Amino acid sequence: MTGPDATTSEQAVDALRRLVVDVPDFPEPGVVFKDITPVLADPQAFGLVVEALAEAGRDESGGCVVDHVVGIEARGFILAAPVALALGAGLVPVRKAGKLPRATYTESYALEYGEAIVEMHQDGLRPGDRALLVDDVLATGGTVAATRRLVEHTGAVAHGVAVLMDLSFLPGRKAIGDLPLTSLMTV
Ligand code: AMP
Repeated sequence: MTGPDATTSEQAVDALRRLVVDVPDFPEPGVVFKDITPVLADPQAFGLVVEALAEAGRDESGGCVVDHVVGIEARGFILAAPVALALGAGLVPVRKAGKLPRATYTESYALEYGEAIVEMHQDGLRPGDRALLVDDVLATGGTVAATRRLVEHTGAVAHGVAVLMDLSFLPGRKAIGDLPLTSLMTV
């Protein structure tokens, strides 16, 4: 649905359908990479998807219910920063191993070949804080599940995860368990 009566979220989905480019066999054979850079390059589309993601951090009356937005390296940073500002919440980065300068919590998770490590500053969140996790694509769910564990190490609460899209042929929804998911588009 497009036009003036469409909700922000419907317009955001239209923008994603129009602008995300499928790149076959990147970064390796068999993977169809979802390139979101054309969405970022279109200010109206970028604004719509940020506003639609930010809804995941609001209650029914539009109030912000999270203290921080956790952005997952690297494309998650690009989305999480404006979402945090839209909500009036702080931004906390989750980075790959060895990038954060102070004491971190560390979580590893399995990839098809090998493992990945993500880290968050130990004082990035405080006990009882509510955090909204943001990334571009939910694929196997390993990254989001590890990020949730990082959040919980601090004593904070993972309020939910918001992504532009989830891949229905991979077990991402199952992997994140009971963590509430806001996915603008399932492909
Ligand atoms: P996963 O841990 O398998 O859910 O993978 C999620 C992370 O990998 C996200 O940070 C995505 O940016 C990236 N990712 C996984 N699959 C794709 C894909 N097909 N296209 C673009 N990014 C992807």
